[in-house]
Amino acid sequence: MAKKALITGITGQDGSYLAELLLSKGYEVHGLIRRSSTFNTSRIDHLYVDPHNSEARLFLHYGDLSDGTRLVTLLAEIRPDEVYNLGAQSHVRVSFDEPEHTGNTTGIGTTRLLEAVRMAGIETRFYQASSSEMFGATPPPQDEATPFYPRSPYGAAKVYSYWMTKNYREAYGMFAVNGILFNHESPRRGETFVTRKITRAVAAIKAGKQSELYMGNLQAVRDWGYAAEYVEGMWRMLQVDEPDDYVLATNEGYTVKDFLENAFEHVGLNWENYVRFDERYLRPTEVEALIGDYSKAKEKLDWEPTVKTPELARLMVDADIKALQHGGNPWIDTVDLQTWKVLAR
Ligand code: NDP
Ligand code: GDP
Repeated sequence: MAKKALITGITGQDGSYLAELLLSKGYEVHGLIRRSSTFNTSRIDHLYVDPHNSEARLFLHYGDLSDGTRLVTLLAEIRPDEVYNLGAQSHVRVSFDEPEHTGNTTGIGTTRLLEAVRMAGIETRFYQASSSEMFGATPPPQDEATPFYPRSPYGAAKVYSYWMTKNYREAYGMFAVNGILFNHESPRRGETFVTRKITRAVAAIKAGKQSELYMGNLQAVRDWGYAAEYVEGMWRMLQVDEPDDYVLATNEGYTVKDFLENAFEHVGLNWENYVRFDERYLRPTEVEALIGDYSKAKEKLDWEPTVKTPELARLMVDADIKALQHGGNPWIDTVDLQTWKVLAR
């Protein structure tokens, strides 16, 4: 019998890579999607097989992390072996505009899902998408023992979810883990996160379609890894004997300015000729520096990143140039449709 997984946030960057990974490992994958007036599944369309086809192993279900009853009925129906809670209002700047919504989805949404597992009475392994934003003002390097000091409604909501996950592990003996992931990017990253905003702009500027790029704080330091490698770490956290919490990172810090330099240099341009400042991109409270120590994941999960920030910047610029030239989107950068159909058999 194939293992079953449920992914919340399957339409997001990480959800799409994780769905690919689990399907390639023979899983039956179920994803929670939100009803939207426009299509919101473009990151996973290449994985979709008509459910009338006996080969279909990806199934999508309408639901929302704000709707606890739906989560209970869905879990009771699917009875997954593994649940990956990736769904969230995941943008830090937006969380200052929508603190209550962010708390409801990114915070209490986790409790609804944990409680739904209990109410459905199923045995499952639970992954919580915790974040380096929980460390906030605590200086780097950060690891699993570093104290949390969140600096945004998003960070505070993630701290709440972290502790709820840990509490369900201790209170009910649930196999529930926190993956504390540092920033991870890809050609599928949301367009308003800083890396993708930069790489899309570089492609558009190089093509003569854009002349300026407005940015906020260029001094912030981040540890940017490649999302496709991080989903492998998520999966490994659920395959070990005992539930525990792990940092995934690259252990290298770069400023936003460094990322700009790498991305523009890759197409032979000087970023200083194009980048302008706009205070609207500043946050009321900023996280100055995040650099993760992933030694525990290396030792216990044999997980190690190979793509570091400069290569990531180049890879993302190349994908955005390709997308612009071909009028498509850069979603299908690791598996093309034909390869996928072969894998799906
Ligand atoms: P994305 O923003 O790309 O994806 C978020 C997903 O959550 C989307 O599928 C979105 O659906 C879904 N979602 C949003 N609100 C709800 C809701 N109310 N109910 C159900 N689903 C909802 O995030 P990433 O893929 O980058 O990140 C995955 C997870 O990991 C998130 O929880 C994020 O906070 C966390 N994380 C991410 C890091 C990163 O660097 N990428 C670092 C550390 C943690 P829709 O498509 O309909 O909007
Ligand atoms: P975060 O680390 O989850 O907040 O991811 P982001 O990609 O949104 O931001 C990373 C860093 O880039 C933060 O320190 C931001 O303040 C900084 N930054 C500077 N200019 C911008 C911008 O124009 N957009 C975004 N999203 N971030 C910016």
